[in-house]
Amino acid sequence: MKHMWAPWRMEYIEQIESEECIFCKNDEQMTVIKNENYIILMNKFPYNNGHIMVAPIIHNTMIEELNPRELTALFEGVQLGVKIIKKVYSPDGINVGINMGRSAGAGICDHLHIHIVPRWNGDTNFMPIFNDTKLISEALEKTKNKFINALREIENGE
Ligand SMILES: [Zn+2]
Repeated sequence: MKHMWAPWRMEYIEQIESEECIFCKNDEQMTVIKNENYIILMNKFPYNNGHIMVAPIIHNTMIEELNPRELTALFEGVQLGVKIIKKVYSPDGINVGINMGRSAGAGICDHLHIHIVPRWNGDTNFMPIFNDTKLISEALEKTKNKFINALREIENGE
């Protein structure tokens, strides 16, 4: 398996030790949707264009602690995230995954979250390389706005 080269991951690694919980800090710039059950956030350090994360609202909840109702509610968020990505990007495939614990690659605080990453055939070469954090933020906000528009269309049954 080829690894995607993502220079902004270095900044990510430097930031994870100090940053407050991104799912709890109400970062409107990165939020696609937040309701009483879940939040969908853009990933500031994406593996691919359109990489989002779905998290329960309550901090420090382990997946094994969620009751069936909470699990269903969380996975409604995952389902919505997949719908949004498909509507905006029509990718060739989608990865949905959970990393638990630092050793498993979960850098972001102790807040359960599910990654949704659109994939394209040959996307190890597809991904644009941004070295400039500001460029990444602008690109992310554009994508977020596309996702919010798609969300409205889904809600309206379009
Ligand atoms: Zn949190």
